[in-house]
Amino acid sequence: MNSILDSKVPSGPLAEKWDQHKFDTRLVNPSNKRKYEIIVVGTGLAGASAAATLSELGYKVHVYTYADSPRRAHSIAAQGGINAAKNYQNDGDSVFRLFYDTIKGGDYRSREANTYRLAQVSVDIIDQCTAQGVPFAREYGGLLANRSFGGAQVSRTFYARGQTGQQLLLGAYQALARQIAQGSVTLHTRSEMLELVVKDGRAAGIVTRDLLSGDITSHSAHAVVLATGGYANVFYLSTNAMACNTTAAWRAHRKGAYFANPCYTQIHPTCIPASDEFQSKLTLMSESLRNDGRIWVPAKPHDDRPPGQIPEDERDYYLERKYPAFGNLVPRDVASRNAKIVVDAGHGVGPLHNGVYLDFADAIARDGVETIRAKYGNLFEMYERITGENPYEVPMRIYPASHYTMGGLWVDYNLMTTIPGLYALG
Ligand SMILES: Cc1cc2nc3c(=O)[nH]c(=O)nc-3n(C[C@H](O)[C@H](O)[C@H](O)COP(=O)(O)OP(=O)(O)OC[C@H]3O[C@@H](n4cnc5c(N)ncnc54)[C@H](O)[C@@H]3O)c2cc1C
Repeated sequence: MNSILDSKVPSGPLAEKWDQHKFDTRLVNPSNKRKYEIIVVGTGLAGASAAATLSELGYKVHVYTYADSPRRAHSIAAQGGINAAKNYQNDGDSVFRLFYDTIKGGDYRSREANTYRLAQVSVDIIDQCTAQGVPFAREYGGLLANRSFGGAQVSRTFYARGQTGQQLLLGAYQALARQIAQGSVTLHTRSEMLELVVKDGRAAGIVTRDLLSGDITSHSAHAVVLATGGYANVFYLSTNAMACNTTAAWRAHRKGAYFANPCYTQIHPTCIPASDEFQSKLTLMSESLRNDGRIWVPAKPHDDRPPGQIPEDERDYYLERKYPAFGNLVPRDVASRNAKIVVDAGHGVGPLHNGVYLDFADAIARDGVETIRAKYGNLFEMYERITGENPYEVPMRIYPASHYTMGGLWVDYNLMTTIPGLYALG
């Protein structure tokens, strides 16, 4: 195991590192690829697409998930969309701008080389997903449509209504299913990874438990890929399902893989507030809603009037007031922090005074109810089912909750952990 953290970032100018690295990396010829077996744990967007791609490259792949189908991975819950620097809108976007926004959104702490590569490959990922049949939203003329996410002044988010994760996962699952049918991927469902096997300092396989029979078996491979999701459930209020239990990453950590930056947890600003003190799961209302919704609270603390009775000049659109350049599309941490500040100061709305308003009245008046329904219909429906309030008529209530984790098993530029042969993705 490496005891010194070496990120193995290639030398050379930022924009050329990835191309140069691909060229410098030794290739494996097609007949040799067949001799290598790779274990992938997890079938979310990261695991399913990695397994399908590795198999398509010619490696023999074994995939494990504790769910009964790859489609049960929590990626299915993703709503708002996926960012890519396509610049379809011709609004000033570029690979460098996506890189810059991501670095800035990460408070200048992300590893620049990896972030630049993310911005570069974002463009190809959209093409790959489209080729896999993901039905991204389209403009009237047939081109892919875009909207904005927080922290961006351009429109670069590709989406499928409020169900982007579901559609992406179906695409990745189809690609995986094709490889399973061809016999180069073996899928093991209801199989929980119990342990990482390390031999002579290298990852050599995993131990699994069959969740139906209880049988415990071990499996060897030349490389092990963990794509097992995040750990946001360590917080009481979270948007993650109970099954997101971070057991695999934790077990690898116990075997010596370094765990980095667990404090880097994203608190998402737009979740439906808790309706009592015992509720631990909060439902996400997609980030994309901040494209059209305006966030406000009553300017006067402890103002219990219904929202419709609070006149414009007695409302505080605090994000638009404090951050005029980004308005309601400030980065998630800024939106979350400010929501907590106003709620703590007594401006909270709703029965428990634990939310802020996200108001679509102006957008509906401007674009018409059908346009808003086409963009967010399923989210509005979900909101109404949970709260009993109709967001076409009264503002939504939202509040932050822990949602997404950026820490996890430490990886180098090649996504390898500190245990050689063990990779972490997603
Ligand atoms: C409500 C919600 C909305 C989101 N919206 C967006 C969005 O709009 N845009 C965006 O970019 N991101 C969004 N995200 C974040 C994004 O969905 C996730 O970052 C991403 O889907 C994670 O994918 P993954 O493959 O890493 O993990 P997951 O999809 O969580 O998959 C983990 C896999 O690992 C398996 N697994 C875990 N532990 C074990 C074990 N011990 N043994 C066997 N198998 C195991 C699970 O069965 C599962 O198959 C959202 C997240 C949530 C929760």
